[in-house]
Amino acid sequence: NSGVPDAKNLRVKLVLLGDSGVGKSCIVLRFVRGQFDPTSKVTVGASFLSQTIALQDSTTVKFEIWDTAGQEREELIVYFVSLRYAALAPLYYRGAGVAVIVYDITSPDSFTKAQYWVKELQKHGSPDIVMALVGNKADLHEKREVPVQDGIDYAEKNGMFFIETSAKTADNINQLFEEIGKRLPRPSS
Ligand code: GDP
Ligand code: MG
Repeated sequence: NSGVPDAKNLRVKLVLLGDSGVGKSCIVLRFVRGQFDPTSKVTVGASFLSQTIALQDSTTVKFEIWDTAGQEREELIVYFVSLRYAALAPLYYRGAGVAVIVYDITSPDSFTKAQYWVKELQKHGSPDIVMALVGNKADLHEKREVPVQDGIDYAEKNGMFFIETSAKTADNINQLFEEIGKRLPRPSS
C-alpha cells in the first residue's frame, strides 16, 4: 500500500461539525488512539489526525480528520456563516467527502444546532458529500432528552446515515467509521 488513493485504497477528508461540548474531539481520539480522557478540556486534541481502516471487501479507507481545535474556531465558522460570507464559511468543509454532524443526546439544543449544520452543508457542501448524523453520549441514557426516534427520522428525511455513539464506552465508534467507509463513492478504475 503506497498510500496513493485508488479503487481499493480510498482517501477522504472528514470534517466534524456540531455544538461545542458534544464530544467531537473525544470521538476522534477514541477512534484514532483508543482513548477517552474524562478530564480533557474542550480544546482537546490536535486539529488534524488520520486513521486508516480496512473494510470487509479489503478496501482500505484513510480518513483525514479535521477537528475544530477549540471553541474559538467553531464560533468563527458560525460567525462567518451567520454573516453570510458564503465564500469563507465553507473553507473548513471545502473538499470534504464526509461530514460527521454530532449532537449530545442529553441536549435538545445541540440537536437543533445539528439540523442547522445539515442545512448549511446542503447549501454549501459538495453535492456528493456523505453525511452522518451522530447522537453522542449514549452512555448517559438516564439523562437522555433527544429520543432515538427523532434522530432516526431526521436522518432518514435528509438521506443521512444515523448512529448513536459513546466516546466514553467506545460503543459504536468503530461502527460509525466503518459504515461511512461503506457508503463512500468508489472511484471507477
Ligand atoms: P467537543 O467540543 O465537541 O470537541 O467536545 P469534547 O470532545 O471536548 O467533549 C466535551 C465533554 O464531553 C468532555 O468533558 C468529555 O469528557 C465529554 N464527553 C465526550 N464524549 C462523551 C461520551 O460519549 N459520554 C460522556 N458521558 N461524556 C462524553
Ligand atoms: Mg473539540
